[in-house]
Amino acid sequence: MRYQAREVDVAGRVRLVMEGSLTARDRVGVQDFVLLENFSSEAAFIENLRRRFTENLIYTYMGSVLVSVNPYKDLEIYSPQHMERYRGVSYYEISPHIYALSDNTYRAMKTSRRDQCILISGESGAGKTEASKKILLYYAVSCPAHERMTSLRDCLLQSTPILEAFGNAKTLRNDNSSRFGKYMDIQFDFRGVPMGGHILNYLLEKSRVVHQSHGERNYHVFYQLLQGGTDEQLLQLHLDRNPQKYLYLVKGNCPRVSSLNDKNSWKTVMKALSVIGFTEGEVQELVDIIASVLHLGNTQFGEEDGQTYVTTETEIRNLTQLLGVDGEALVEALTHKKLTAKGEEMISPLDLEQACAARDALAQATYGRIFTWLVEKINQSLTLQSDVDRSRDGSSVIGLLDIYGFEVFQHNSFEQFCINYCNEKLQQLFIELTLRSEQAEYEAEGIAWEAVQYFDNKVICDLIEEKHKGIISILDEECVRPGETCDLSFLEKLEDTLGGHAHFTSHKLANGKTRRVMSREEFRLLHYAGDVNYNVSGFLDKNNDALYRSLKEVMCQSTNQIVSQCFRREEVIDQKRPEMAATQFKNSVTKLMETLMSKEPSYVRCIKPNEAKQPGRFDEVLVRHQVKYLGLMEHLRVRRAGFAYRRHFEAFLERYKPLCPETWPVWEGELADGVSTLVQHLGYKPEEYKMGRSKIFIRMPKTLFATEDALEA
Ligand code: ATP
Ligand code: MG
Repeated sequence: MRYQAREVDVAGRVRLVMEGSLTARDRVGVQDFVLLENFSSEAAFIENLRRRFTENLIYTYMGSVLVSVNPYKDLEIYSPQHMERYRGVSYYEISPHIYALSDNTYRAMKTSRRDQCILISGESGAGKTEASKKILLYYAVSCPAHERMTSLRDCLLQSTPILEAFGNAKTLRNDNSSRFGKYMDIQFDFRGVPMGGHILNYLLEKSRVVHQSHGERNYHVFYQLLQGGTDEQLLQLHLDRNPQKYLYLVKGNCPRVSSLNDKNSWKTVMKALSVIGFTEGEVQELVDIIASVLHLGNTQFGEEDGQTYVTTETEIRNLTQLLGVDGEALVEALTHKKLTAKGEEMISPLDLEQACAARDALAQATYGRIFTWLVEKINQSLTLQSDVDRSRDGSSVIGLLDIYGFEVFQHNSFEQFCINYCNEKLQQLFIELTLRSEQAEYEAEGIAWEAVQYFDNKVICDLIEEKHKGIISILDEECVRPGETCDLSFLEKLEDTLGGHAHFTSHKLANGKTRRVMSREEFRLLHYAGDVNYNVSGFLDKNNDALYRSLKEVMCQSTNQIVSQCFRREEVIDQKRPEMAATQFKNSVTKLMETLMSKEPSYVRCIKPNEAKQPGRFDEVLVRHQVKYLGLMEHLRVRRAGFAYRRHFEAFLERYKPLCPETWPVWEGELADGVSTLVQHLGYKPEEYKMGRSKIFIRMPKTLFATEDALEA
């Protein structure tokens, strides 16, 4: 078979392009950014993306990174035949694809026996979740499987609709936006057979349960139940089919979404729950809880003579019935709080506003805990199969990270602060791993490495997470400090402690000297990806994430077993303060980074082509912004720093030996000498290449292209 070999990868592999497998259309632009002649030009980079996007070529490599642009239409490139085509094939033989990355990662795991991870990033709506689903599907369908393992395969696949129903919602940016971070391990045995899986979830946006902005919705599952539940079921749950009847659903004024079919999705979720192994009783209890959250939202209060009381008796009756809790105790806990002062318990009434806040806190806590419970339950179904062979050597893992991208809204709150902090940490990891691996290769080959200038965002990570003087520490302190504390006193503390920090400012500190107007309630962080103003309003409450003890007491006595598993008695008895939300998040992010560090990474960088969610539209300004904060240009510079290509002596000699009479047809001596003889004959100048221990390093692509041309001539 004849190969075309115009393209060569940086790792030194010749891209053996099978004739006929890559059509002219597949080769629009360059299919690896490393091959761009003008590699430091952002304009050339974006033009290459645009040209390929116009031809529906949404994937482009950048070395081992896969850049993906959301097509917002079905491309029909994900069929089982496509999967088959990518199996066992080297990166450059056919058009770039998410299956190629999945397959290469899988093979790397099998041959090197090292754990792998695939990190998917990009802003909301860029296609992260779709990418992760395709990777999962690839492994579920194309990996060898035991008969025993078919149920694992089903559980892996069916976990997605469940978590999407409970953790995704329609936002202004994405009709199916994941409002939680997800890291999933797939465990393989020594033969490469999937043996189990494990999911970790991060920071579900709980505030969405009680409030949505205009044009947004609550979590899908509520609408799915209302549309998909049978008449009898809704009657039993005391629910009305119309979502607009529920205060927790009405705020976004968006009951229907044309791209979503709530009724069908409900069926899918019910089926998925049964595949995962939920009993009928558990499903019933789960449904009771979803309905209860809606009834809780409709629970209203009145106030008379300083006394707060519940005005919606029916809702309390429904809650009592569905949750199996004591109605009177629930009303009491929603309108009063218990205090312990000097060892004595006192009961103090809540005012109207406090009662509403207590109700919303209960709804959020219930939903948040159910979500975590669901993840645990799914994990049980994924671990069942992995007991076999667990102890055998050679088992390894592929981790899949689908986590929220950098977020900048008009109004940025505690959630955006956490999400953007996580992105800073991921950027750190990216720098660390890409630079480290590049450097390691130069060192191993004994080649002097010319460092690339890049912005090290460690300074911002420290600003947020450092002990005692980082923003999270200051926030925690403010939450527990005795006396009058509030969001503004937190802001003042930040200003006192961090004033003068190059990446922190506020209205007061800037003295009106900032480009974008800031309100008195905001502080600004200069993130690696851009500046973000955070409004401190709600920071203390969200960090405290407190639920009155009396409400916990009511919930832990529930006869609904899922509820009583989520609200443990020990929690009520134990007076010790649990960790605050931001610290919990910091700890889980730190753990995640350790997990990822121990693995060999591959990256999928997702780009959103337009804000209108439309096919065929490529908004250059929007894309440029993402290219910048995804660090793509920096990464490309690192890849190209010093030497664009490297290739094993053997491969180099084998390919180009016909070009030199001394090396043709066989070179008998040392490989390195053969390569030296060959390149001297070809007229390579000393500054154009370097000889490593096992590879030749070539500085510019054009040198190699000239050699390729000579071969074809
Ligand atoms: P978020 O951070 O909000 O969760 P995301 O990056 O996970 O966003 P997705 O939900 O994966 O974004 O994608 C948004 C929508 O874009 C999908 O619902 C789908 O309509 C479309 N889309 C994404 N990727 C593809 C693809 N490869 N082919 C066709 N459509 C796609
Ligand atoms: Mg998503």
